[in-house]
Amino acid sequence: MIRNLNRICQLDPKATLKVFFWEILHSIFVAAPSGIVLIIVWELFSEHPNTTKIWTVVGVMAVMLVLQFFIAAKSMVQTNIWVYGLSTKLRITLGNRLRKFSLGYFKQKNPGEVAAIVLQDVANFEGIFGHSVGNLAAAVFGTTVLSVFLVIYDWRLALCLLAALPITYLFLLAANYLVSRLGNKQIAARNTVGANFLEYVQGIRHLKSYALIGKKHTGLEQTLKDLCQKSIRMEAVPGPFIVTAFIVFEITFLAMVALGLYYLNGNLITIPVLISFLILGYHLYHPLKVVMVDYLSLRYMNESLKRIIEMLDAPAMASGTAKLPEKFDICFKDVSFGYLNKPTVQNLSFHIPEKSMLALVGHSGSGKSTIAALIARFWDVNSGKIEIGGVPIKDIPQEQFYQLISEVFQDVYLFDDSIYNNIKIGNPEATESEIIDAAEKAQVLSFAWELPKGLHARVGEGGNKLSGGQKQRISIARALLKDAPIVLLDEATASLDPENEIFIQQAIQELVKSKTVVVIAHKLATIMRADNILVLENGEIAERGTHAQLLNKNGIYRKMWDIQQQSNGWKV
Ligand code: ADP
Ligand code: MG
Repeated sequence: MIRNLNRICQLDPKATLKVFFWEILHSIFVAAPSGIVLIIVWELFSEHPNTTKIWTVVGVMAVMLVLQFFIAAKSMVQTNIWVYGLSTKLRITLGNRLRKFSLGYFKQKNPGEVAAIVLQDVANFEGIFGHSVGNLAAAVFGTTVLSVFLVIYDWRLALCLLAALPITYLFLLAANYLVSRLGNKQIAARNTVGANFLEYVQGIRHLKSYALIGKKHTGLEQTLKDLCQKSIRMEAVPGPFIVTAFIVFEITFLAMVALGLYYLNGNLITIPVLISFLILGYHLYHPLKVVMVDYLSLRYMNESLKRIIEMLDAPAMASGTAKLPEKFDICFKDVSFGYLNKPTVQNLSFHIPEKSMLALVGHSGSGKSTIAALIARFWDVNSGKIEIGGVPIKDIPQEQFYQLISEVFQDVYLFDDSIYNNIKIGNPEATESEIIDAAEKAQVLSFAWELPKGLHARVGEGGNKLSGGQKQRISIARALLKDAPIVLLDEATASLDPENEIFIQQAIQELVKSKTVVVIAHKLATIMRADNILVLENGEIAERGTHAQLLNKNGIYRKMWDIQQQSNGWKV
């Protein structure tokens, strides 16, 4: 746990040291008055009690109490500033890290789980550690200060009291083991709830339309009940061990009292020593008890820390230091790739000359979108090499790599912001007139002007206030503004009504002017003019050539073409 905490605190070591300084100072000030009381006891029992001395000591105590108040306030504020600052830093670090992962990471973890780590696990850290850091300091330093006082007075009685420590430690170890086991189960249940709830909310429209609300709800209800059960177990099962550890403290205290009385009888100690032990002995373990109550939550927090650190350490996509290419032809050299180890595309070798257009066709599931995703480096290839302008894309620094590529996909994601800002994402430095120009060319203005706020109308979460075609036009405007030398079009016009399709064809014509283009289209008529066409089957290149060459081959392409020509005549 200490290693994990240390790892997190390294995000801001200076502030951490400062907080520890104030918390330790505070705990010493809290413990010191009990020590000073002893001086009074001793003076009272001395042969000639010195009243001036006693009053001076009382004065010192009063001053210390005032100081303690200020130190407490200071350390509390410091701790809060520190822990919230640290968790903000942690979330930003995690957020930045997420961008560097391959999409494979998000396949293994569902979105609910990723969100739970960044939100809930970090909240566990800030809530639990922020609350117990002061108690921890008091337990360690307060107890040490008092123990030193006690050992000086009488080491035998002190030893008797301190004997509780190793025994309680054993009970803590047992509790520790249980918390870590049950805590993991509870966290897993919590993630399932998160993921199910996310799915439930995102899919609520479809659930409604299929009248599944009740059924899907029972699934969610079950996971909630499961979470409830696991949470109770996590708290209840280790509890008795902690309570037993408390009792050990009481027992050693009683043993110390008995030993003290025995020594007193034998005149081995004086009355003030015994009184000192009765006062301090009871105070000695108070901070430890507080920490033991915190201990369970601290262990639970540690499970969160483990998951946070696992995310921090998850392998990011390699990012090289090569210069950006100056030419933008794309070359696949014997590329193979599979999602989660299942081969999806195999032994692909082809070359797309700069500023030419390559079309990918093939049945659905043949690997077309996968090739586009590999060019965009959403995934890394398993073997072989992809080069742009002769530079392996693995060697290009990630942040710069994405400048090279614009994508327009069938499903467009828009941020819950204005149309204007959604276009601006293409190039955050663009001027207003450049943005309006892109909106004009991508046929965004032709629908935006009807909206009450025009380009500044909000699009809703994921763009849900707009039609598919309108979202598509915004994403093309975004790509136009980005003006990247390589353009990937994946079924950009597949699900559009004819009117939108015409608009979007025009917008795309603007976008692909003098670019290296990879286009995936279902309707072969739209890619007839491509410079080169690859026909994919089961992840391999079955045929290649121009439209005319492929028609003459009388192969798969010819068959697909004929079928589409026939179906053009269909009417419902
Ligand atoms: P196409 O675009 O030609 O329809 P894809 O490239 O999308 O085909 O998919 C090729 C194969 O890879 C399909 O069998 C599909 O099920 C699988 N696949 C696609 N995307 C993923 C993914 N993210 N995770 C796992 N398998 C995937
Ligand atoms: Mg596809």
